[in-house]
Amino acid sequence: MHINLTELFSQTVKDVTIQRTLEMDQLEFGGEVYEISKPIKIEFEVTQLGEGEYLTQGKVEVELVMYCNRCMNEVITMVEGQFTRELNEHVDDSESDDMKDYYKNSVLNVEKLALDEIYMNVPMKVLCNESCQGICKVCGANLNEETCNCEDDNVDPRLAGLKDLFNERFKEV
Ligand SMILES: [Zn+2]
Ligand SMILES: [Zn+2]
Repeated sequence: MHINLTELFSQTVKDVTIQRTLEMDQLEFGGEVYEISKPIKIEFEVTQLGEGEYLTQGKVEVELVMYCNRCMNEVITMVEGQFTRELNEHVDDSESDDMKDYYKNSVLNVEKLALDEIYMNVPMKVLCNESCQGICKVCGANLNEETCNCEDDNVDPRLAGLKDLFNERFKEV
């Protein structure tokens, strides 16, 4: 989705508000595919600063289907981002490489702008609930829904990292 900014402005119009909904079914990044449960909405204001120079400020939001880090249940996660970006065609090439991905010859790539912002704000991990009990590593039971009688001789997953660290240290000595 591309918008030519020069067409929006005139002698009298210096501020424009743009709202768009991007119809996409999924997002793919970081080697993962995320289903989108509510379309990407982007809303931003563009202010003309000079010829080919604009300031954009706005927000983007989307609802993604993610999975609980402990029990793997679906977690509908709202991802929001706010941005302020200066668009300037006259910046020299070395500094504007990144910007040229979404802004070139007064044409703004709205999809790229929105996606960049979403990628930066997708949480690494989500939980269905802070107190999620997770899945029994022995029998696979969802411990939020049932209890099992497995011997719990495994190290608490929250401490596993610590145990590895101790082992590492021990090897070094
Ligand atoms: Zn969970
Ligand atoms: Zn079990």
